[in-house]
Amino acid sequence: MDVELNRKNIVKHQGLIDAERRMELLGQRGCVVWLTGLSGSGKSTIGFALEERLVRDGHAAYVLDGDNIRHGLNGDLGFSPEDREENIRRIGEVAALFADAGLITISAFISPYRRDRDRARAAAGEGRFVEVFVDAPVEICERRDPKGLYVKARAGEIKDFTGVSAPYEPPLSPEVVLETQNKTVDECVDDILGYLTGSGILVRRA
Ligand code: ADP
Repeated sequence: MDVELNRKNIVKHQGLIDAERRMELLGQRGCVVWLTGLSGSGKSTIGFALEERLVRDGHAAYVLDGDNIRHGLNGDLGFSPEDREENIRRIGEVAALFADAGLITISAFISPYRRDRDRARAAAGEGRFVEVFVDAPVEICERRDPKGLYVKARAGEIKDFTGVSAPYEPPLSPEVVLETQNKTVDECVDDILGYLTGSGILVRRA
């Protein structure tokens, strides 16, 4: 059956539970915390620390990262430009669904292109997307090199490596900027929690 023809027959069904009821139930407004930055800038470290702090405070949070996405949902995708774009598109859609379900959804992907991040923002909806620029100079990331990827990229073993042989487009107006070379992980988490509280996303802090 023709895919376009089929798509025309898909009608969005309006559920009976709205965002306000979910918020009362969960003490939080579902959102997407979208961490973006170079490899080694600190996205995973901060993402998991944020998740841990939120859960400890009685909030429902979940990290989407390479491990739970690349092996499952996006297991069919490689690293061509089209596949990278599709990878981020799917993550943005899944994150938006998780946020709609009420979770503080944390995504930790380099996501180097503004256009892809803006599409993720559009999927989540304005007010539900918190773009966090995990900002560290490439020299610092390369010195940290937690996964040994910069060494491989410099040796030419990985091509199109962001910051070395592929571009990174910094966010133009992110909700939060974290200069990770000047802050501890805990301070970075505090900054994000401060934003989430100030913007009314976290309603109840246990
Ligand atoms: P990414 O997920 O962006 O590739 P990782 O979180 O895997 O980066 O690695 C970041 C490295 O930087 C870790 O070794 C971490 O301990 C270190 N680091 C130092 N300071 C910070 C900070 N303020 N925030 C996050 N990571 C930091």
